[in-house]
Amino acid sequence: MSASEGPRPTRPWIAAATGYRLGRVLAPNRAYRWLAGRIEARPRLRRWFTAAERRSKERLFGCRMCGQCALPATGYACPMSCPKQLRNGPCGGVAPNGDCEVYPGDRCVWVIAYERAEQAGHARDLTLLQRPVDHRLAGASSWLGYWQGRDEHLWTGDDGLDRPVAVHRP
Ligand code: SF4
Repeated sequence: MSASEGPRPTRPWIAAATGYRLGRVLAPNRAYRWLAGRIEARPRLRRWFTAAERRSKERLFGCRMCGQCALPATGYACPMSCPKQLRNGPCGGVAPNGDCEVYPGDRCVWVIAYERAEQAGHARDLTLLQRPVDHRLAGASSWLGYWQGRDEHLWTGDDGLDRPVAVHRP
């Protein structure tokens, strides 16, 4: 499916373990930050790099170029391929067999995400809270933002359940 069509649950083309390995290779460091700065300083190079990211991630994950990649916390299944684009899914409409409410017959991408994360020993990631997507970044390279440190705090560090939020009672 291409990004010009509406989102539809997408099963990644690579195994979860491969995704986590790739994530480790692409983890921010000084060299990547330097590279990202160089690329961002040259508009043509930035366009080329962004197009390459789009082509590879569209093919591998059904990426829709939201600009703020959640893959490391979602078992390397793209949450933006959810028809409702839920970032903290799934919704309440998942069928008992794990199918999507909007596309019966397709597995809910959040079910896929959980299964993949669990298989790779990362099921706890699915309890983290994702920050709302900043739609102004749609179409931007998420790798550049990630390497430049702009993606920090995209999700919470833990589930926060051991620090219950105080409830105000009048
Ligand atoms: S950049 Fe956004 S749309 Fe693309 S794979 Fe990551 S989460 Fe999905």
